[in-house]
Amino acid sequence: MKFADLHLHTHFSDGTFTPEELTGHAARLGFAALALTDHDSVEGCARMAAACGAAGIEFIPGSELTAEYNDIEVHLLGYFLDTQNQTLLAEIGKFQAVRQNRIREMVARLNALGVPLEVETVFALANCKSPGRPHVARALTKAGLVKNLDEAFERFLKKNRPAWVPKAKMSALEGVELIQQAGGLAVMAHPGLNRSDEIIPALVEAGLDGIECFHTKHSTAMSERYLEIADRHHLLVTGGSDCHGFSKGKPLIGTVKLPYEHVQKMKERRGVEPLNR
Ligand code: AMP
Ligand code: ZN
Ligand code: FE
Ligand code: FE
Repeated sequence: MKFADLHLHTHFSDGTFTPEELTGHAARLGFAALALTDHDSVEGCARMAAACGAAGIEFIPGSELTAEYNDIEVHLLGYFLDTQNQTLLAEIGKFQAVRQNRIREMVARLNALGVPLEVETVFALANCKSPGRPHVARALTKAGLVKNLDEAFERFLKKNRPAWVPKAKMSALEGVELIQQAGGLAVMAHPGLNRSDEIIPALVEAGLDGIECFHTKHSTAMSERYLEIADRHHLLVTGGSDCHGFSKGKPLIGTVKLPYEHVQKMKERRGVEPLNR
């Protein structure tokens, strides 16, 4: 049996592995195909493609975009993206700037709470264009201002906690369009985590290509539910570990093994539709 992991993060967003390290772990686990889906970034894709090529692993360039529809947050995965697509790069660039400003705002709130964290410390640790809350959590932990990442989120960074700053999101309908105009397939990420089932029909209407049925945080019942929904709406089925390296405890790669037949179906769907829809 051939398997794929189609949801992975590197240090080009909030993961801790390099593309080469991640590929090395995947090779040891016997994966046949991988997709890189860093938040608001395709920067790691070139190195990941090279590492996968050397390891004999099929590589799919991707990204994970944060979007919303009717005030419901939804993460969109783009697969088989043209990583040189200018519209995609421009839009991603805007959201990277939003992320950087949000880090400044979160640190300002921490400072107002008497937590002496410097924004440059976070940026130095993040060392990427797509910084996020895990970087703030790691910087707080490293500085000894909290005991661990959990405490950082529980005390400060979780939604509605005192240093939480809402993130400007793109419209999910525009997100689907952005991915597809870059030659990609648009897939709804971990629907079981976002309580977003009610928006699925609208996204399907907008051309959504697939849904992530298998995810580390999906129970078996959840996976079965989304497999049914995929079947009903004629959506592709995807899955991945959402591994962030050591950014969220233990590396998750290997916890989800998507049967390769789903990758084959993705390629077929992509093949029958023109790149620029
Ligand atoms: P951001 O994109 O800045 O909103 O950060 C989102 C990242 O933070 C995702 O990778 C989440 O899985 C992670 N995250 C969110 N809540 C928690 C939490 N309570 N503990 C650890 N990581 C979290
Ligand atoms: Zn993340
Ligand atoms: Fe996500
Ligand atoms: Fe993710």
